[in-house]
Amino acid sequence: MTGGCRRWMTLRHLVHTMPAEGLGGGAEPGLQLAVQELQPGGPEEEAVSMRDDPVGRRLAEALDQAEYAYDRELLERVFGLAQKAHKEQLRLNGDAYISHPVEVALILLELGMDNECIAAALLHDVVEDTPVTTKELRTAFGPDVATLVEGVTKLGKIPYTSKEEEQVENLRKMFMATAKDIRVLIIKLADRLHNMRTLEVMPDFKRREKSRETMEVYAPLAHRLGMQRMKVELEDLALRYLDPVGYGEIQHDFAENRSEHEQFLGDIMARIRARVEPEFPGSQVSGRIKHTYSVYQKMYKQNKTLREIYDLYAVRIIVDSMVDCYNVLGIVHDLFKPIPGKFKDYISTPKPNMYQSLHT
Ligand code: MN
Repeated sequence: MTGGCRRWMTLRHLVHTMPAEGLGGGAEPGLQLAVQELQPGGPEEEAVSMRDDPVGRRLAEALDQAEYAYDRELLERVFGLAQKAHKEQLRLNGDAYISHPVEVALILLELGMDNECIAAALLHDVVEDTPVTTKELRTAFGPDVATLVEGVTKLGKIPYTSKEEEQVENLRKMFMATAKDIRVLIIKLADRLHNMRTLEVMPDFKRREKSRETMEVYAPLAHRLGMQRMKVELEDLALRYLDPVGYGEIQHDFAENRSEHEQFLGDIMARIRARVEPEFPGSQVSGRIKHTYSVYQKMYKQNKTLREIYDLYAVRIIVDSMVDCYNVLGIVHDLFKPIPGKFKDYISTPKPNMYQSLHT
């Protein structure tokens, strides 16, 4: 399939011909571009409460519904300061800048992160982009929040100039080491996720640069932290800009054949459930179509068309014990003929992130 080959080459080509200098030299690369200064505001104003702000209201509502009882008084004060500090700034798409930290906070809220994390998310660009200092944050909100913000700001300063895989690996290690507190890394990932979700308005070279960095550094970090949904979304968003043609082709097929895919997957799950559920009450069977980037990799690494990829689908069976896991495997191999060489036992040999399961 020459077409596939060409596009894979295109991606590699993009990756290796990006200018090395100036990539991510600044804090959060591209942020400066995303920010437009407005005319300075009038005299000192009262801090706006979350509910009185169109963007803040969404966070207030999400906090209302959260399972964990967040420190609303603290977060209210934090929001007030962040809103005020970013007041004169707009994102490139014309939104008030505060919408970005709020969205980052919402992502972290969804992940069930703690008070300090949500506070630091709201403040994460304040030190870098406004006159507010870490010292002021420490006085106002305590050392924990201030240290997290400081950590995120530091991470943004690690230059991204890699070309070789080894250097990328070093960079990932540097991220891990610089972060010290794992929450710093998680905030940074949420920051990147929101920037990737809103990448559309950036100039083309910026989109590719950010996407490459996302693919090489951030997605693997998310993977290492076991944040699978984060990893998948980052990869798909990055692929969309690194190879729009390849991405579009897969997306198009998924949209076109949605009902066919769903029916096939539903069918397989039903057959598995019928055998597994009576024997293992409480077992959970779920299925999904693989995400765009994982399909893309299969197409271009194995040089196959979408039609030739047999593992487009993934079915997951969760049972209570390790022994049940091996027993269910027996049932599955009885139902479907296993493909030689495709079986992996991550129970006896767990992945480095402690992941344990059987793959077939
Ligand atoms: Mn940010």
